[in-house]
Amino acid sequence: MTEKEQIDKLRSELRAHNHNYYDLDEPVISDFEFDEKLKKLQLLETKNPEFYDPSSPTLRVGGAVTKNFETVVHNERMYSLDNSYSKEDLEDWEKRIQRILGDDNVEFTCELKYDGASISLTYEEGRLVRAVTRGDGFQGDNVTTNVKTIKSVPLQLKDNFPAKFDIRGEIVLPFEGFAQMNAERLENGEEPYMNPRNTASGSLKLQDSSLVAKRPLDCLLYGIVGQNTGIATQWQMLEKAREWGFKVPSVAKLCKSTDEVLSFINHWDVNRHNLPYETDGVVVKVNSLQQQDELGFTSKSPRWAMAYKFKAEQVSTLLNEITYQVGRTGSITPVANLEPVLLAGTTVKRASLHNADQISKFDIREGDTVFVEKGGEIIPKIVGVDFTQRPKGSEPTQYIENCPECGTELLRTEGDAKHYCINYYGCPPQITGRIQHFISRKAMDIEGLGSETVEMLYQEGLITNYADLYTLTKEQLLPLERMAEKSAENLVNGVQASVSIPFERVLFALGIRFVGETVAKKLAKAYKNIDALMVANEEDLVAINEIGQRIASSVVEFFDNEANREIVSRLKSYGVQFSLSEEQLENQTDKLKGLTLVVSGIFESISRTELKKLIENSGGKVGSSISSKTSYLVAGDKMGPSKRTKAESLSVPILTEEEFLKMV
Ligand code: AMP
Ligand code: ZN
Repeated sequence: MTEKEQIDKLRSELRAHNHNYYDLDEPVISDFEFDEKLKKLQLLETKNPEFYDPSSPTLRVGGAVTKNFETVVHNERMYSLDNSYSKEDLEDWEKRIQRILGDDNVEFTCELKYDGASISLTYEEGRLVRAVTRGDGFQGDNVTTNVKTIKSVPLQLKDNFPAKFDIRGEIVLPFEGFAQMNAERLENGEEPYMNPRNTASGSLKLQDSSLVAKRPLDCLLYGIVGQNTGIATQWQMLEKAREWGFKVPSVAKLCKSTDEVLSFINHWDVNRHNLPYETDGVVVKVNSLQQQDELGFTSKSPRWAMAYKFKAEQVSTLLNEITYQVGRTGSITPVANLEPVLLAGTTVKRASLHNADQISKFDIREGDTVFVEKGGEIIPKIVGVDFTQRPKGSEPTQYIENCPECGTELLRTEGDAKHYCINYYGCPPQITGRIQHFISRKAMDIEGLGSETVEMLYQEGLITNYADLYTLTKEQLLPLERMAEKSAENLVNGVQASVSIPFERVLFALGIRFVGETVAKKLAKAYKNIDALMVANEEDLVAINEIGQRIASSVVEFFDNEANREIVSRLKSYGVQFSLSEEQLENQTDKLKGLTLVVSGIFESISRTELKKLIENSGGKVGSSISSKTSYLVAGDKMGPSKRTKAESLSVPILTEEEFLKMV
C-alpha cells in the first residue's frame, strides 16, 4: 500500500469508529487501538502535507488557535422559539394552527428542547465547511475550528446527502462529562463551573481548539434548512439527518393528535431527569414542511413551532430589601434584593418585582421569606410569600412616591401598571439610559464606548444628551480616569464612524418610547426620511400597517418636543443618516399600498420568502390568514382546498403567481 492509500484507509476506518462510538454508542475497538490508529495517521499526514484534508479525523484533536472569531451572516436566519408554560396555552396554539391551516388533523413532531448553545452547521458536498453560533439570529461567530473537535459532529457525511444545506442543533455538555470536568478542576484547586449550558457555550469561544477537544461536548441536531433537500416533513428530516451521520436523539415522537402531544410532554416532564443531558422543555413542531411554510414566521420565531417549558425549579429565600430602579423612559421597577441562593445552577441575588400591583398582589414585604422561580426569563421572579415565616410586627410595603434618583413626584397614568418619573431631562438614570441605548449594539453600535464610560462622561459634565457625543474631543477625554491616549482615540473614532449607520437604526437609537427595532424599520420604510416623519400626525401614522395608537402618539409627542427637535437637527449637522439610502429607495414602490395579501402554496419562479418580501417592498402587508380584510390571496401550487373555499366565501380575489408578478 502506498502512503496515500494508507492515509485514506486510516481516515475512513477512524471515521467509522468515531461514528460507532459517538453517535451510536457502540464502539467496536478499544480506546487504545483507536488512539494507535490516530497516531499513525497523524504521523503519515505530517510526513505528507500534500494530502491535507479539512475533514480528516485528526482535526478532532484540535490545535489551531483562533484569536478573533469572524462574524458571519447566516444563510438563513436563526429564529427563537415562542414559549408556553401551560398545557392550555399549548392547546390554544394548536387550535390556532388548525384554524389557520384549515385542517383539523395537523400532525406534530415532538422533540426535547436541549439546553445548550445553538449552532448552525453548513455542509457542502458532504463536508462540514462552517459552524456558526446563533449570535443575534442574523449573524454569529465562526467557530468551525472548535466545532470540528466535537466528535459527534460528522466532518464527512455518508449516503445520499444534498449538495448544500445548513443543519441546526444544540451543543450540549452531558451531565457526566460536566461532573468529571468539575471534579478535575476542584482537584487542581480551580473554581468549578456553574452549569453545563454556560460551559458549553463558553467552550465554543475558547481560542485554543485543543482545549475544546478535551471537553466532552456533544452536538444534537434537529433541523435542516436549504433548497432541494427532498424532505417533506420534520419527522423525515430527523430520519434523514440520522442516515447522513448526525446525532439525532431517538427521543422524539410523531403525534397525530393533541392528546398524543400532551402525553409525550407528561412523560418527559418526569423522565427527563434520567437523560444524559439537560433539557428544559419540549419543542412541538407542525410536521408537514408545506404547512410550516404556509404558517411562516413572526418577527422573532416560527409560527409552526412552540416550546413547552417544563415547570421551573423553585427555592425559598429571605428578601432583605426592596429597591427601585429608574429606566431610560423613566419607568420605575421595584427590585427584590435577596439573600443569595442557588437556583437551577446559578446564584440568585436579585429578582424583579415588576410593579406596585405585583407587590400588593402577593403582599410582599421586606423581611419575608419568598419563593423564587426561574421561568423562561433570565431574571428570576418571585412567585409567592411563605407566610409561615413572616416576622412579627412586619408592615405592608409602602410603594415609593418620589423618584429615588431625583426626588420628582412619581406619576402613574390610567391603564399603565408602572409608575414613571417624568423629569425626562433632569433625572440622571434617564439621561444616561437614553445615551446608553443610543450607543448600544442594535442601535448606533458605537465601538470604544461602553455604559460605564457614558456614566462617567455624564458625571464629568461632558455630555447631557447623545448629540453631545459627536462634539467630544480627545483633549477633553484625556484627563479622565483610566482614559489612555488609545482609548480616547478609539472613542472619538467610534463616534465618528457611527454616521454611516442606516436611517432605520438611527430611528431606533433615538429611544422614542414604543419604537423598537421592528417599528423603526416600518417607520423608516414608510416615511423614507426624518423630515417627513417629524411632520406626520397621529392619523397618518396609524394608517401604516401595524402602527397602533400608542406608538403613533408617542412618536408625535417626541417630535413635538422642542428639545428633541434640536437634538435631531444637531445630529443631522454631524452627518448622522436621516434618510433611506439610494439603494434602499430603489427597491421600493407603493403599488400595493394599503393592501393585505395572503400567500399560500408553492411557487415556481420565486420562493415564498422572496414573494413576501416583494409584497412588503411594494408597500403591501402580508396577512397570515384569510379574513374579510384580505385584499388578495396569492395562490401557488398545492394550496389547501379549504383556503380556496374560504377565499371564495369571503369574495377575496385569488391571484395566480403570474398575475401577482404582473401586478408588482
Ligand atoms: P429560545 O432560545 O428559548 O428562543 O429557544 C430557541 C432555541 O432552542 C433554538 O435556538 C435552539 O437552539 C434551541 N433548541 C433546543 N432544542 C431544540 C429542538 N428540538 N428544536 C428546535 N430548537 C431547539
Ligand atoms: Zn427621576
